[in-house]
This record gives sequence, C-alpha cells and structure tokens, in this order.
Amino acid sequence: MALSTLRIVWLYPDLLSTYGDRGNLLVLAHRARARGIDVEPMQIRSDQHIPHTADIYLIGGGEDGPQAVAADRLLQDGALSRAAEAGKPILAICAGYQLLGASFYANGRAYEGLNILDLRSDRGPSRAVGEIAGEAAPQLGIGPITGFENHGGRTHLGEAVQPLARVTAGVGNDGATEGAWAGHVIGTYMHGPGLARNPKLADLLLAWAVGVNPAQLPPLDDTWPERLRHERFAALSASQ
Ligand code: GLN
Repeated sequence: MALSTLRIVWLYPDLLSTYGDRGNLLVLAHRARARGIDVEPMQIRSDQHIPHTADIYLIGGGEDGPQAVAADRLLQDGALSRAAEAGKPILAICAGYQLLGASFYANGRAYEGLNILDLRSDRGPSRAVGEIAGEAAPQLGIGPITGFENHGGRTHLGEAVQPLARVTAGVGNDGATEGAWAGHVIGTYMHGPGLARNPKLADLLLAWAVGVNPAQLPPLDDTWPERLRHERFAALSASQ
C-alpha cells in the first residue's frame, strides 16, 4: 500500500469527546495496523496548532459550551478547512458535525460554523437520545448504519451535501435523514463510537486516506463488530 505511515489527528480532546468518540481513533489505528500500515495518532488540544500534514482528521461531540469554544478556535486556526479543501478525509461527530456547517445553535443563540459542509443546525423540539439506525447512501457502500445519539440540535442539509443515511430508527438530522457527506468529509450524529459500530465506515475513511478502493483493503476478521451490530439492530427491532 502506498502509504507507509498513517497520521490520524484527533482534534480537541480537551473540548470535544463524548460517548466514546475517541474510540474512532482507536478503531482506525487498529484497522490500519492490522493491514501493515504504521499509524501515528496525534491528539491536538484546542491550544495547539492543527497539523497540515495529517492523513485523516477526527472530531468528536460535546456540550454546547465546549462546542462554541471549539468552533471559534477551529475558525482561527484554519487548518481543518484547508484539510477539507485538500481532499483529506474528515469524520465529525455530533457537535463536531454541527460546527462544520454554516451555523449551529448553542447556549441559546446561533454561532458561525466552518462552512466546510453545506448545512446548518438549529434547535429541535426535544432532545434526541437513544439508538439511531439507517440505510447509508448506496454510493458509499457501507450498508446499514448503527449508533447512539444524544443532541438537542437539528440539521438542515443544503444542495452541496448528500445525506449519509436514511433514518430507520431515531432522529439524526431531522427524523428523515442522518448525517451528511461531500467529497471526503463525513458528518454524523452517531456516537457509540461510530466506527466501532460501523467498521465499513472506518474502512471507507482508510481507503480514502490510502488512495485505494475500499474493496482493495485486505479483509479483517470482523466477527466481534458484526456481533455487536447484530445485537444493536436486533434490540431495535424488538423495541419497535
Ligand atoms: N451540543 C450539541 C447538541 O446538543 C451537540 C451534542 C453532542 O455532541 N452530543 O445538539
């Protein structure tokens, strides 16, 4: 494989990392190493500069206060926007997803986002808490998705993004669609962590970073992730 060392940036662990989102870093690192790719994980706090040289950028969820601070620091830093322009894979969860849009709502008011994804978020009538599931966009080839959501915001997609999935359980963006993607940038409400529950999504990001088709990645033994997925989907159908 062309890439010898995969540099994965986990952004702002001091502000944004809820419901096991840092697990996304561990899952990506594990799945890369299992394929013989060396991994350099980089945890970048909000008082540090974001490196331009990374291959994948991850950002997690958080409460309103830290979310607003994170958006401000990311706007000042500018490197995440440049990474998106350069086609680097970015995975953003919940608060991290909302702040990639044009604007988001926190602490009772609207805040400016990074405008990396064509969407905006406001507040919904109630908090969306619990399991979320959906059918991912067929072009992504990742099948059904599963996660845990906990957010007050609702997200409205513009023309330049596509929904990550059609919701089959839970709320996601608005009860109909969940998450968004454009180019190599993916945003989602799925905690859980999202990549432990959706290994094909992890492999899609890896494939983008390495510059291959996901089918070209050597297969891994996914017995345990598949058991977890089966358990979560079964629990949902039992409760519906
Ligand atoms: N503060 C945001 C909301 O409630 C995001 C929450 C989260 O990241 N879990 O909508």
